[in-house]
Amino acid sequence: MLTPQQARQRLRRISSLNIELAESFDQLLNDLLSEGKHFLCVDKISVWLIDNIDVPKKLNCIATTESKICTSSSLGIHKYPNYFENILLGNTIAANNVATDIRTTELQSHNQTNTRAILDTVIFHNGKPQGVVSCESNIQHHIWHDEDIIYAESLADSCSRRLMAYETLKLQKQLRELAFVDTLTGLKNRRYFNERVQSAKNSQYRLQSPLSLIMIDLDHFKRINDEFGHELGDIVLKHFAKNCLGKLRLEDTLCRYGGEEFIVILPYTTEAQAGLLAERLRTSIENMSIYHEQKVVKVTASFGVAEMGLEDSIEETIKKADIAVYAAKKSGRNCVVSS
Ligand code: GH3
Ligand code: MG
Ligand code: MG
Repeated sequence: MLTPQQARQRLRRISSLNIELAESFDQLLNDLLSEGKHFLCVDKISVWLIDNIDVPKKLNCIATTESKICTSSSLGIHKYPNYFENILLGNTIAANNVATDIRTTELQSHNQTNTRAILDTVIFHNGKPQGVVSCESNIQHHIWHDEDIIYAESLADSCSRRLMAYETLKLQKQLRELAFVDTLTGLKNRRYFNERVQSAKNSQYRLQSPLSLIMIDLDHFKRINDEFGHELGDIVLKHFAKNCLGKLRLEDTLCRYGGEEFIVILPYTTEAQAGLLAERLRTSIENMSIYHEQKVVKVTASFGVAEMGLEDSIEETIKKADIAVYAAKKSGRNCVVSS
């Protein structure tokens, strides 16, 4: 049997464990809630979050120890004014008798429940109530002791810690994604290319499979800017990106390598197969017409294809693709050259 102090120590330790973004709130809080249910000897623990911290209207259930997730459940502020008044003040509600306690009678009368005693503690975020950890007992004459209250408050803090870690992880992921995206075209950028091509090379080595690159440079793009304006030049780049993306497999990666230069990573693809794809891309771009304010813009591109041999370095292969693009330019542009 754990002492209350040891039990709180366990909560603190559990709440520090690493989490995964793929987890639902229910999975995210499951270990903490099960731990709490066991220590407090209650029938159910659930976590509820306020819909809007600044203008609260309701509490939504996001996790529970019940086998069935009650995530569709919510409590509206208008139906439960006494309960909400306490929660929004940040007060812990320890009701030994739900039916007679002024703070909880409204919960009893609106919900068909066996709950006899409730211990609700507030989860805080940035100094404001963000939600509630609700511990319910079906036993009559249940008495909440001081140590139960202190433990339940620790449980709410542990949930708060987990939820904050989750938010931080989500933000980190979003920032990371933003750092890898080209804002104009929405394609992955050169930074992403550098990471992706390295991991493609690693799996190529493991699987002994072919891997190719296609370098693409739009033809006479400066002229397009000069003739139609830079803004329309940007629109052409966006159309180009969308057009090419639609023709690639899921495992291929098209990146904006520089201004009007792009590169495609093609795992499991030989140079001959990459050449065929480059030719398909070339004709689709040639056939593309961009209509904008009574103007029609046409564009073409030159393609350089290079396969990365198992012993070739990434830099060597990019260089080969680059030289092939240069050769395509020399042979009159709007064509594909393999290295
Ligand atoms: P080439 O066929 O030899 O490749 O000719 P080019 O005009 O495409 O090549 P050059 O390298 O001389 O010029 C590239 C042009 O691409 C110049 C630059 O202003 C334009 N460019 C680069 N990035 C952007 C962009 O984000 N938006 C627009 N509108 N233009 C861009
Ligand atoms: Mg260029
Ligand atoms: Mg160009």
